[in-house]
Amino acid sequence: IVTLEKVNKYFGSLHVMQDIDLEIAAGEVVVIVGASGSGKSTLIRCVNGLEEFQSGRIVVDGNELTPYGKGGKSLQTIRTEVGMVFQQFNLFPHLSVHANVTLAPVKVRGLNNTKAREIADRLLERVGITDQADKYPSQLSGGQQQRVALARALAMEPRLMLFDEPTSALDPEMIGEVLDAMRELANEGMTMMIVTHEMGFAREVADRVIFVHDGRIVEQGSPQEVFDRPQHERTQAFLSRVL
Ligand code: ATP
Ligand code: MG
Repeated sequence: IVTLEKVNKYFGSLHVMQDIDLEIAAGEVVVIVGASGSGKSTLIRCVNGLEEFQSGRIVVDGNELTPYGKGGKSLQTIRTEVGMVFQQFNLFPHLSVHANVTLAPVKVRGLNNTKAREIADRLLERVGITDQADKYPSQLSGGQQQRVALARALAMEPRLMLFDEPTSALDPEMIGEVLDAMRELANEGMTMMIVTHEMGFAREVADRVIFVHDGRIVEQGSPQEVFDRPQHERTQAFLSRVL
C-alpha cells in the first residue's frame, strides 16, 4: 500500500533521506526506530506529503507523490486516506471533543451531521472517551487527548495510519492507555507506520522494525531479528543505549 523508491530529501545541505527504498503491505505494522535527528519524522511526514522530497517516488494506495511537493490531486487524496497522530495532540482547542472528531468527516468527506455524529460516537466509545465528549481538549488529560486525536484520525476511515512518537509527551501512567488503543487498531488489521521509543510495544505489535541512521535504512527485520540479533554495529550501539 506504500512504496518509496530511491527517495532523497535535503534540508539545505543536510541529506536527511538517502536513497530510501521501502515497501509496506496492507495490514502491516511497521515500527521505525533510530536516534534523534536520524530522519524518522521526516520519513513518515513525506508519506502524507507534509514534507517535499527532491528525487525518487512515493506511492500511497495508488496515488503518486512527485518530487518538490508536486502531487496535485494525488496529494489531496493521500491526505484524506492517511491519518496521522503526532507527539503533540494538535486538537482544535476551541472545539469540543465531539466536534473535533466530526469536523473533517463533514467538511472533507461531505458526510451529513447525523452520519458524522454516529461515527464519532462509535469511535469515542471505542477509545473510551464517551463521557468526555462535550468537554474541550484543555479539560482532558494528555492520554485522553491523544485518544481523541486517534478517534479524530480514524473518523476519516484512513487506509493507513502514521504515528510520530504518540506517547512521548505523556506522563508515564497515561502511556499504556494510548498504546492499548493502538494495539487494538493493529489487531484489527490497520496498516500502521509508527515512530516510537516504546521498545516493548514495538516488540509486541510490529510485523517489521526498521532502524534508521543518518537518513538511511540501516537494518530491518522482525522484532526478534532487529532487537535480539542486530547485525549492524549502529543498531547494536543504539539498542545498547535504549534497551
Ligand atoms: P527525533 O527523534 O528527535 O524526533 P527524527 O529522527 O525524527 O528525530 P527528523 O525530525 O526527521 O529526525 O530530522 C532529521 C534531521 O533533519 C535533523 O538533523 C533535523 O535537525 C533536520 N530537520 C528536520 N526538520 C527540518 C527543517 N524543517 N529544516 C531544516 N532541518 C530540519
Ligand atoms: Mg522526530
